[in-house]
Amino acid sequence: MLRTALDLLVPPLCWACREAAADRLCEHCRSRLPWIEPLATRRRGTLLQQHWSPLAFEGPARELVHALKFHCATALAGLMARQLVDSLPPRAFAPDAALIPVPASSIRLRQRGFDHAELLAVELSRLVMLPVERPLRRQLAIARSQRGLGRSDRLSGLGLRLSVARKAPLKAILIDDVCTTGATLELCASALLERETCRVSAVTYCSVP
Ligand SMILES: [Zn+2]
Repeated sequence: MLRTALDLLVPPLCWACREAAADRLCEHCRSRLPWIEPLATRRRGTLLQQHWSPLAFEGPARELVHALKFHCATALAGLMARQLVDSLPPRAFAPDAALIPVPASSIRLRQRGFDHAELLAVELSRLVMLPVERPLRRQLAIARSQRGLGRSDRLSGLGLRLSVARKAPLKAILIDDVCTTGATLELCASALLERETCRVSAVTYCSVP
């Protein structure tokens, strides 16, 4: 009732184009989502068994990620999780694996007040019935952002150091909103594989083409 009254007073907006829309993503933007073939990709030398990502990081997909990350549109996590589940094959979510959000830096966490990857993992957990575990911790040394670092710097761990703070699951599915170079996912996989984990895959909402 209250929601309906509020919607009459302040019509909801599409988070991608900011036009009035009945839903969080208007039909026009929904039709422009940059879907890509959701095949599991495997780069040379990667530690990931599979990496699933059904959208390119552009157009409305990029706007949704930015709204979630920078404008506290936390309700979008449910929409994005639903899109992931609807577009990826069931084998992307192995039944005996745990979902592990790629951890945000403590500075980002304080700035935003929430961890966007964790929100996405929690929403996915409800849909695919897999547990969310949080064994990864960013160490203090990684307070600086990875933005602006080149791929080699990212891969060397210059901008990001991780520790495994508790027992890691045998099978892990890393969850994040965007895969840019894949370096963060590789570092997360490396940290997990040094512990009990024997298989790591990843699901990201979108990827930089
Ligand atoms: Zn729109």
